[in-house]
Amino acid sequence: VWNSCLAFIKDNITPQAYKTWFEPIQAVKLSDKALSIQVPSKFFYEWLEEHYVKLLKVSLNRVLGEQAKLVYVIRMENTYGNKQPFTEKIPSTNRSNVASQEVDVPIKNKNPELKNPFIIPGIRNVKIESQLNPNYNFDNFLEGDSNRLARSAGLAVANKPGETSFNPLLIFGGVGLGKTHLAHSIGIEIKDKYPEKTVLYISAEKFTQQYIESVKKNNRNDFIHFYQIIDVLIVDDIQLLSGKAGTQDVFFHIFNHLHQNRKQVILTSDKAPVDMQDIEQRLLSRFKWGLSAELQHPDTETRVSIIKSKLYRDGVDMPEEIVEFLANNIKTNIRELEGAIISLIAHSSFNKKDITLDLAKKIVDNYVKNTKREVSIDYIQKIVSEYFQMDVETLQSKTRKRHIVQARQLAMFFAKKFTKASLASIGSQIGKRDHATVLHACKTVDNLASTDKQFMKFVEDINKKLTL
Ligand code: ADP
Ligand code: MG
Repeated sequence: VWNSCLAFIKDNITPQAYKTWFEPIQAVKLSDKALSIQVPSKFFYEWLEEHYVKLLKVSLNRVLGEQAKLVYVIRMENTYGNKQPFTEKIPSTNRSNVASQEVDVPIKNKNPELKNPFIIPGIRNVKIESQLNPNYNFDNFLEGDSNRLARSAGLAVANKPGETSFNPLLIFGGVGLGKTHLAHSIGIEIKDKYPEKTVLYISAEKFTQQYIESVKKNNRNDFIHFYQIIDVLIVDDIQLLSGKAGTQDVFFHIFNHLHQNRKQVILTSDKAPVDMQDIEQRLLSRFKWGLSAELQHPDTETRVSIIKSKLYRDGVDMPEEIVEFLANNIKTNIRELEGAIISLIAHSSFNKKDITLDLAKKIVDNYVKNTKREVSIDYIQKIVSEYFQMDVETLQSKTRKRHIVQARQLAMFFAKKFTKASLASIGSQIGKRDHATVLHACKTVDNLASTDKQFMKFVEDINKKLTL
């Protein structure tokens, strides 16, 4: 169909124009009388609309008859080459590193003298690939005390997007507690209930990249418009906008537009709004307009049921005592829990051995050691004094012996670096000093580390021990 249209078009315009504006187009789908063509950018689409709408329409009507409709599929370049995780949802002609935006436009008439009966007036009907992961849905998001509020708020939003007072819905909580999973679930549920709604999931990171790219390419407005036509916008890890003034500004405008038009916004963050740093006040206050729902650490019961459902889905049998062992030992991160299960299964099948408690212990040891070791001020003092072969009391003592002073200053420096404690609190824990002493210590370490090679080695060695 498209080739016949092209033949007609080619006869009616200059070769140069044909090459520029028609060769890059790919026909992607024909359903009923609607032909979908893919164009490289929004700009490209607008140009076609502006200059070739009549030609397109006429050629299409010749081939498909009066009922012909044209659907534009706009490729959104993913400039950072990230693989789209869900390529199967993207029309097959797309390369794997492009997301697509479908804009289903009844061809409109911008130029009055072109007015003719072919032109179907009407509202733009927009389809955008949602980027939702079908594996993250409500069915496999297990409910527990730790997530009940967030989960039911999510369901409420999914039932009536944009119509509840949970707008925005902000889901916050620590790493690996299910924010991303829940956010996708809401999107999937909305798509299920309201297939006509445009839902878009995007990470704040990708949003930022797209924005930067749009500024570079001089199409910031296209970028904004693209987001303003969405019915349900899900932005994951919104805390990543921290310190990015330009992106925050553009997000602020998009947010306002969507909110005013009663579109649903769903955000996730690893912190509560009060704890977000370097995010503009006007944005923070908007984050609080709706509902902030926390995902807490799952209790033992929930952990057990998450493990079991995971095993069930993978068709693996595991003795009850091992399930309990896992649940009791990996408490604060569901992703780690899943990781441990996977490596347990992998180990046992690789070595053709049954899953034993011993194996589970080894694996959990690796997990807990590698991924989670709280760096406390006590721990820092212990490592620093061990390094200098003194005991913690000496490190804390009032002595002014140079090497002891240095050890103490290093402990303060690392306490500042690795903990969230205030200067005053660090001081009081390291030999009852005041905050000015700690501040001085941090500056001294900074100075010495940049002038004294030997000292710099101390800093590096201790740093390594602390981050191991
Ligand atoms: P976050 O985005 O908070 O870091 P994720 O949403 O990526 O965490 O979740 C980490 C892993 O834990 C995912 O594989 C997810 O499916 C799983 N998970 C989290 N919460 C639940 C839950 N309530 N039920 C089942 N699986 C969960
Ligand atoms: Mg996440």
